[in-house]
This record gives sequence, C-alpha cells and structure tokens, in this order.
Amino acid sequence: EVLVRLNRFISMCGVASRRKADKLIKEGKVKVNGITIKEMGYRVDPQKDVVEVEGRVIKAPRYRYVILNKPCCYLSSLAEGKDGKKSIKELIKNIPERVYPAGRLDYNAEGLLVLTNDGELANRIMHPRYKLKKTYLVWVEGRVNPKTLKEMAKGAHLEDGFARPDKVRIVKMQKDSTLLEVVFHEGRKHIVKRFMAKFGHKVKALKRTAIGPIKLGKLPPGKWRDLTAEELSLLR
Ligand code: URA
Repeated sequence: EVLVRLNRFISMCGVASRRKADKLIKEGKVKVNGITIKEMGYRVDPQKDVVEVEGRVIKAPRYRYVILNKPCCYLSSLAEGKDGKKSIKELIKNIPERVYPAGRLDYNAEGLLVLTNDGELANRIMHPRYKLKKTYLVWVEGRVNPKTLKEMAKGAHLEDGFARPDKVRIVKMQKDSTLLEVVFHEGRKHIVKRFMAKFGHKVKALKRTAIGPIKLGKLPPGKWRDLTAEELSLLR
C-alpha cells in the first residue's frame, strides 16, 4: 500500500490546500477511523483509512491512467486551442476524471501520450531522472548515410546542451527520405527535430510509438484506452 501524509490526502481530495489542511489538523477537525488526529506527520492509506474533515467523510478521486494516440494537428495540452487549433481535450471528453498529459507532443506530431490524474506517476514519466525511454518513428528529408547514422549515435550539441539518443536506426529508405527509429530518455522541447536538424535532415513526420514499457500498438489515431494493470505495474 502507498501511505500519504494526512495533509496531502486532504488536499488530494480537493477539500483544502495543504496549508489549510495543516490548520484543520491542528484545530482537531480531522479524524482518521473515528479518532481525532493532531499529529502533523500522520500517514494514511488512501484506500483503507476513513478520513473525516469536520464530520464529513472525504474520498480521494479515483486515479485514472489512459493512453491516447494523438493525431497530427492537435495540441497536446488541454488549453483552449489558440487560433482555432484543436486540442486533445476534444478527444477525451468522455473521461470524467481530470486527467492531464504526462509530457508533450508537437502540434504536428502524432502518437503516444499518457494521461493521468496521478501527479506522482506523471512526474515519473516526464522527469529525465527516471530515464524513461521515448521511442519515435521519424521521417526525415533526404537519405541518411551510414556515416551520418554513426555520428547520430554519438550524439550532438544542441543549444541547450548535449543530446545523445539511446538508440538510432534506419527503418526504411526511400528515394529522397528516410524513416528512422530514435530513442531518447528525455523530453526536451523539439528534441527530435532539433537533433535531426543538426545533421541536416529536416523532420517531415514524427510519431511517438513507446514511452518506457508502454507501447502505442494498434490504437487508432484519436482513440484512447485505459492502461492495463500489467502496464501500470511496469510503469511503477
Ligand atoms: N521531439 C520533437 O521534436 N517533437 C516532439 O513532439 C517530441 C519530441
């Protein structure tokens, strides 16, 4: 089980800010399993303990974890689209929980987004510290020659620092374009596009196919599904 501090639990339930929750606890207005708790560091099990604030039982919102195949030409944020741009908000209307995307994809990129209302897991997905590998399929202009591919594997200096893919390989070659698979364990803005540009290859199309152990699979563009219990356990 995952224990959380009482003040955090109260704020998770949307009852009060953490600061206000501390005040409520100090004032003796909070009970756990029928007993008034005034201890600041007290921890509760959100699934099992019954927490009352001023006589009312409070409940944590259910955590929800979904993946979405973001289509091209949708904003990956939930903000209202500026200048008539569509956002993924339209695609997840039927999810009652307030899930938000863990990480971003460019407007003209497509593929895997994980959405959740579990802030801790979202952070785990986004923060480079956890080195979660993001896999992309990327069409670039021109034919990538073997020498360039080798250089790519060694990494490149971008304006905001060095970037080295965990993996880069050619999937398919056409007359004047190349399909690459590239893996980065970080999510700096436009990292794939900026990286490819360093080698003189403009990105024509970009699709994220995996985030760590989670694979997009055959999920059609614009569709979402819940993560399975097994996928979730792999992420945690
Ligand atoms: N890199 C990019 O350039 N764009 C994305 O959307 C994701 C990674």
